[in-house]
Amino acid sequence: MTQVLIVEDEPDIRRFLRLTLAQDGWTVAEAGSVSLALAEAAERRPGLVILDLGLPDADGSEFIRAFRTWSDAPILVLSARSQEADKVDALEAGADDYLVKPFGVAELLARVHALSRRRLPRDMPEQALIRFGETEIDLARRQVSRAGSPVKLTPIEFNLLVYLASHPDRVLTQRQILRAVWGEGHAGDSHYLRIYIGRLRQKLEADRTRPRHLLTETGVGYRMVL
Ligand code: CA
Repeated sequence: MTQVLIVEDEPDIRRFLRLTLAQDGWTVAEAGSVSLALAEAAERRPGLVILDLGLPDADGSEFIRAFRTWSDAPILVLSARSQEADKVDALEAGADDYLVKPFGVAELLARVHALSRRRLPRDMPEQALIRFGETEIDLARRQVSRAGSPVKLTPIEFNLLVYLASHPDRVLTQRQILRAVWGEGHAGDSHYLRIYIGRLRQKLEADRTRPRHLLTETGVGYRMVL
């Protein structure tokens, strides 16, 4: 995965992205609008897309919906502080992560590297075991252990953990998680989610007040780091 498509209409930010990613070893394609981005994407088949949400011809989410009909490549969204709701829309349309402007080189490269080394294909945990820290999830047996000792999880705790662990390094919105784990009718019950995330942290994190794997994305949702 070495081809990146940068979709950004502000020349200074686009230049910054181009230089930073080229130096990091990526072959860079660029577009300044949704229509040009779709044409570039079809031709180049990028392995990664960096997408500004505020574009002159349409909202960046329109690009995501169209792109997701044929590509699973990670999408990193760039948003302004005033675009909080747009950010959630973009994630629900199929973006994987976001950066809030302004951001620096280190922050950008950390996100890009996390997305490009993503270990599991989207929504398809094909491995029998998922490991993070001292924890091991046995998907076939529906068992979890920590440092070799079994950990008792309720069915919902287990399903929540597997859903998060199957989307490592990706920001999942509260609504996405609630729909996937509790079902369509619970999409607004974010208090359930807080309670269950708290229980998983208590059982699986070394320090539940400073989690290293089950991370909160304030105002948006959660991110699992394996
Ligand atoms: Ca813009």
